[in-house]
Amino acid sequence: MGHCCSKGAGQAAAADTDPSAPPKAEAPSHGTSANNGQRPSSSAPTKPASPAAKGTKPAAPLGTVLGRPMEDVRATYSVGKELGRGQFGVTHLCTHKATGEKLACKTIAKRKLASKDDVEDVQREVQIMHHLSGHHNIVDLRGAYEDKHNVHLVMELCAGGELFDRIIAKGQYTERAAASLLRTIVEIVHTCHSMGVMHRDIKPENFLLLSKAEDAPLKATDFGLSVFFKEGEVFRDIVGSAYYIAPEVLKRKYGPEADIWSVGVMLYIFLAGVPPFWAENENGIFTAILRGQIDLASDPWPNISSGAKDLVRKMLNINPKERLTAFQVLNHPWIKEDGDAPDTPLDNVVLNRLKQFRAMNQFKKAALRIIAGCLSEEEITGLKEMFKSIDKDNSGTITLEELKNGLAKQGTKLSDAEIQQLMEAADADGNGLIDYDEFVTATVHMNKLDREEHLYTAFQYFDKDNSGYITKEELEQALKDQGLYDAKEIKEIISEADSDNDGRIDYSEFVAMMRKGTAGAEPTNHKKRRDLVL
Ligand code: ADP
Repeated sequence: MGHCCSKGAGQAAAADTDPSAPPKAEAPSHGTSANNGQRPSSSAPTKPASPAAKGTKPAAPLGTVLGRPMEDVRATYSVGKELGRGQFGVTHLCTHKATGEKLACKTIAKRKLASKDDVEDVQREVQIMHHLSGHHNIVDLRGAYEDKHNVHLVMELCAGGELFDRIIAKGQYTERAAASLLRTIVEIVHTCHSMGVMHRDIKPENFLLLSKAEDAPLKATDFGLSVFFKEGEVFRDIVGSAYYIAPEVLKRKYGPEADIWSVGVMLYIFLAGVPPFWAENENGIFTAILRGQIDLASDPWPNISSGAKDLVRKMLNINPKERLTAFQVLNHPWIKEDGDAPDTPLDNVVLNRLKQFRAMNQFKKAALRIIAGCLSEEEITGLKEMFKSIDKDNSGTITLEELKNGLAKQGTKLSDAEIQQLMEAADADGNGLIDYDEFVTATVHMNKLDREEHLYTAFQYFDKDNSGYITKEELEQALKDQGLYDAKEIKEIISEADSDNDGRIDYSEFVAMMRKGTAGAEPTNHKKRRDLVL
């Protein structure tokens, strides 16, 4: 995909080294996607005042890992103290020079990426973080940078440290506290699975706390071992951390159920303070895991409720087919006991985003289409994988039946009429099918609207004569071009967006309209979700 960013790589790189340049021009996407449909392009001439038009430096060389122009992360961020170290990366505190925002920067040394597989792992980590960004319990990726020696992932700062340290400090959790923590973790796992991602390294060290506050939100991090998966796909490589590895992973035949096992191990630790499978060395741990015997009799288990024990047993079922799914865990009586565990299907990302898209006016839909076209390959790989898993016959288009099955798989029961409506909303060209570009446009996360440079490109697309205003005629023409024209709606759209009543839309009115009603998009709370109308 990526029709839009008509600015050259040199300009992008130049803007990136100029922290004063307001909306940063993104590196152009590399056009290797499955996009073969006609995309609208940002044909409006670039205004001299355009922030993206600054600089004429020659194109920076392409990085060997991310495959786009190299850029200096320190041009945009100042890098501070070390926050932690992992197998591949060192994470530092960093500050956005222009805004002062504090973030975390994980730096991966390219010299440590010895094989092609190592490089692909980093590429996948970036793609998966982009794909999952926007969920309130998953660390947000703000940007990925590559220079000569390193790859840097700039992400949301979790100043509260690792969940692991909090567990140690607490020793043991009360059942209520453990249930509430478990619920959050299983919801995260459910979201990953429903978005086609298996984490493969679930353990307390990979959950960070946003702040030091007792009730600080938990954030999943480190997708370095994560992979995209399709239903029924079998994985064979042994990855993970010893205590938490599922038996079927050790047997080299596994799927997403392995994540639930790891969460089961975490639950055991929350309640008992010790891991369920323990030995002096790794081999001993693996033998214990394969034996699968769990001690639920010694201290402190006699004092733990039978409900908690029942759940531990069902999550640590050695047979992945019989093990509870994330959805079933959330509906287990013990986890529901203290409150509002869901009794309705959980986050269905595709469904939620389609519904949200359906509720947008044509102007917003058209603008989103432009923005979707601006996204880089690594940002939309996740959606591409989801598209492929719904498009069962690999035809390059999703039929009504495929959409129905795709949504049903996640426990969503919709009437045929409702599915038809969602289908029609996404099917911009009205041919009765959803193609890849239409899918990305309708399911792209609304946090992409926070990116100034994308909004600006979309604005330019409508403002054909480059006057700084979108007029009624320009809007009519653009919607006609995109096959989204609806005479009745045009007047409404203008009057809704035109807050100074001059009959046209300036850039700030455009930004306000685009951002309206999308804050906190992707409802995670079920009460909120019901507000969305089909
Ligand atoms: P690796 O993939 O190399 O194991 P991690 O992603 O686990 O690296 O990061 C290493 C350490 O850096 C973490 O254990 C944590 O202490 C710290 N860290 C990672 N991400 C953040 C973040 N977003 N905010 C604060 N600290 C972080």
